[in-house]
Amino acid sequence: MPNPNRVTEKLFQSPSKYIQGPSAIHNAGKYLSSFGTAPLLLADEIVYNIAGKELTAALEASNFKVTRGIFGGEASKDEIAQHTARGKQNKVDFVVALGGGKTIDSAKAIADDLGLQVAVLPTTASTDAPCSALSVLYRPNGEFEHYRFYSSNPTVVLVDTSVVVKAPPRFLAAGIGDALATNLEARSARNSPNFGGGLPTEVSAAIGAKCEEILFKYGKQAVEANKAKAVTPAFEAVVEANTLLSGLGFESGGLAAAHAIHNGLTAINNHTLHTKMHGEKVAFGIVCQLILDNASSSEIDRYLTLMKSVELPMTLGELGIGGATDEELHRVASLACAPNETIWNMDRVITPEIVFHAIKGADAVGREFLARP
Ligand SMILES: [Zn+2]
Repeated sequence: MPNPNRVTEKLFQSPSKYIQGPSAIHNAGKYLSSFGTAPLLLADEIVYNIAGKELTAALEASNFKVTRGIFGGEASKDEIAQHTARGKQNKVDFVVALGGGKTIDSAKAIADDLGLQVAVLPTTASTDAPCSALSVLYRPNGEFEHYRFYSSNPTVVLVDTSVVVKAPPRFLAAGIGDALATNLEARSARNSPNFGGGLPTEVSAAIGAKCEEILFKYGKQAVEANKAKAVTPAFEAVVEANTLLSGLGFESGGLAAAHAIHNGLTAINNHTLHTKMHGEKVAFGIVCQLILDNASSSEIDRYLTLMKSVELPMTLGELGIGGATDEELHRVASLACAPNETIWNMDRVITPEIVFHAIKGADAVGREFLARP
């Protein structure tokens, strides 16, 4: 039920600075100098080799003393505790996240546990994690555990598009899936408190709408540019939509069914499904959201056309769980309807049974769309 506590204040929150461009890492020293001199740099091995060495060199040239933390792959409590201890030992004075959503979400938790500021340097535009004051935490087996909230957003978000363009196009497409949910979910959650605990402002609604506009205009073109490793204006626009607009839009606008169903899906034990990215599972959640919103067939087609053009999954089969039983889908639906889930932000009657039918209905429209000549 929307707004059970009758909140009346509107609230909008964001990082203090957002910087994006093809030489952002090279200039990192300039943007991070106000934080301190001894960062804990969290990155996994692969990302460290792609961008971490260059970042470390840029920071060392500006007299920073960098402590390296090797991220193990899951945003779990154990991982966070291990790096927090290392940060303490080395007396770091701020935290730098370099990588994808899980590295970023872990770094935010580490910084919070250390009582320090965090700078986020995303190396992919695959999620809306960089700008928000929350982390999505998972169990070591990859199952969704809970959201963790912080009192402030990352201070600086620095996106180097010359690095982001080197990531596989699938990452940008997954980011488009995540960002495409922003406006739909915010629209559905417009009368509920957002992640900051206040009602959505006019600006967060405008950001959600702009985000969607950019994705429909440039989404396909940006993925093609990514394939050619070309940093074009369309690519820059979609990186901004996936990172800044989607991040601000979901946090201050609110989430609804697409993300709740994503969270429910993570509990299905299936290898192919677990190889799917956050935004790919959210993409199927978008189709479910549209079904619950009672969207017209032509409106659903508009979203499916964009999703297909960037190879986002739109059926259970494309997620690798075409053979899921009704019992399994009932479990997904009931998890999507867990007491703290964002599905309760929606302006309509929700029950696990209604969500179960929406999942089946979404899969049916997706299959019909794919079968068209
Ligand atoms: Zn998301």
